[in-house]
Amino acid sequence: MTCSGLDGLTGPNMRKRGNGLMPDNEFTERFEKAGRVDEMFEIVKDAVRVTLNRERAGLMLGLSSLGIAPQGFVGGYHQMGSNAIILNSSVLKRISRARPDMLKPYAFSVLLHEYLHTLGVLDEARTRMLTYKICSDIFGEEHPLTRVSRDFDKVSREIIGKEGPENPGNFEVTFVEGFDSRETGYIG
Ligand SMILES: [Zn+2]
Repeated sequence: MTCSGLDGLTGPNMRKRGNGLMPDNEFTERFEKAGRVDEMFEIVKDAVRVTLNRERAGLMLGLSSLGIAPQGFVGGYHQMGSNAIILNSSVLKRISRARPDMLKPYAFSVLLHEYLHTLGVLDEARTRMLTYKICSDIFGEEHPLTRVSRDFDKVSREIIGKEGPENPGNFEVTFVEGFDSRETGYIG
């Protein structure tokens, strides 16, 4: 698919939902109820559909222990041309241990960021900005999810926290079964 049109997607083309003042209750409730990563990803996809009018199906999710460097970490990555999003499980484990309250907002934010990459948004600053805008638009400015997306560097430092860096594992990728398996004809 071609994603060359994505640069025009902010501004007038971006559909307004919550507008930072009136969060979308349906999305907020779904986010609160979501427990599994595939449920969270469905919300990510719907959020992108309603704001940017883009979608992509058939993605795979992999987990890999990429470690935590002293000055930061890779939350995840998408290899261009592939259909996989890989999340850094070292970070996910660290957060669920040290900051369980941050786990869902963090995971959602990283999934959204990587999903935007799969749609052809490649510039890092632009991807971060779009991630924040989508979260703010749908969940409102005060939602923890929006805060994570807005202050990702600060949140990263909180996550690295006292425990400090962690060595990567063997870079093996474990794929999550049943991820992104919703039928394309689904109407919800
Ligand atoms: Zn990125």
